[in-house]
Amino acid sequence: MNLTPAFRGLRCPDCESLASFDAEGRCACGTPREAVYDYDAVDADALVSADVSGRGHWRFDALLPFHASEAITAGEGSTPLIPADRLADELAVDEVFIKDEGRNPTGSVLDRGMSLAVTALSGLDDPSTAEPVALASTGNSGQAAAAYLGRLGLRSYSFVPSRAAFSNKAMINVHDGGMRVVGGRYGDAADAVDDQLATDYCSLQEFETAYRHEGAKTVAFELGTDLDECPDFVFVPTSTGELIAGICKGFEELVAVGAIAETPTVVAVQPTSCAPIAAAIEAGSDVPEPWAVPDTIVGELEVPDPAGGSQAVDALRRTGGDAITAGDSDILESATAVARHEIVEMGAAGGAAPAGAWNWADEVGFTGDETVVLLNTESGTKTPDILRSHLMGQGV
Ligand SMILES: [Zn+2]
Repeated sequence: MNLTPAFRGLRCPDCESLASFDAEGRCACGTPREAVYDYDAVDADALVSADVSGRGHWRFDALLPFHASEAITAGEGSTPLIPADRLADELAVDEVFIKDEGRNPTGSVLDRGMSLAVTALSGLDDPSTAEPVALASTGNSGQAAAAYLGRLGLRSYSFVPSRAAFSNKAMINVHDGGMRVVGGRYGDAADAVDDQLATDYCSLQEFETAYRHEGAKTVAFELGTDLDECPDFVFVPTSTGELIAGICKGFEELVAVGAIAETPTVVAVQPTSCAPIAAAIEAGSDVPEPWAVPDTIVGELEVPDPAGGSQAVDALRRTGGDAITAGDSDILESATAVARHEIVEMGAAGGAAPAGAWNWADEVGFTGDETVVLLNTESGTKTPDILRSHLMGQGV
């Protein structure tokens, strides 16, 4: 595999050993590895002005391990920033944009990381040696894995909790992915991978592969370069920590190559009834405590023991970010309000972004001149039943 000039390999942030692109995502010392680059070798102007047409987030391959020409891709990324003037008025800020990740090939932001992770597998001498490829998923990542592995002719095995959205389960099958529906919640599905697979397997779990959060960083590359100025706030629905760790890293890399002056304030938004990362930020601790009794209707965000929890907390601390919670009812109300007024169809998880911004306005406050981005992490077609039942619960 032909690696990009700036890519230096996968480095362990703990013992600092450097490994090649195809090493396991976790170092022998137990710490997840990070993709590292020689930032002096990256031309910021070329990075920012790279041709957008048809390449999706691979236009930023100067700061990715693999060349766009070798990517396993369906054009993920290059998602639109949709102005939401009514929301800007209501939040009393200068501008609000919705970054609509529902437009990705399988309808969620997770396509970005899956594209990188599966491209890495394509670079093995014989990709079929990676089989079986498995992961536990709240739904969207299982769907993305089935889709991208299908391009390589590899079969995925997704372990999803019984409460995962019907659309995810159906589309995992449509992509010809293997699926095991595990009774209970996400933690039960995660336990089932090791319990039920009686063989070694290649994990596509976030922070077991180094490439899931690495792919998420291209959200920051687009936010940092698509507007005339980098936004001031980015509200991110948060579950495993993958998006927070990746997006913060992306902004830091833009600063490192001189493309932007400073990182924006990234705010992780979690449901009030499953908020281990927000609780760790609040308590000033480095490692989130597993959430004892998770209970949110937003299944995609119900991750009580996040794999990237400490990475997310560290990323928020490094970049001056923060975290906030929002109740289920506010999350669903926000998603449906955006659909009513702003055209964009947000999935239930996506509703956490506007709900978090509302709570930020109430509890912390904006000064009035900010540009605020709300990250819609998934398409409204993922969870129409949850959104509709919320309205029915209000007598609509
Ligand atoms: Zn190590």
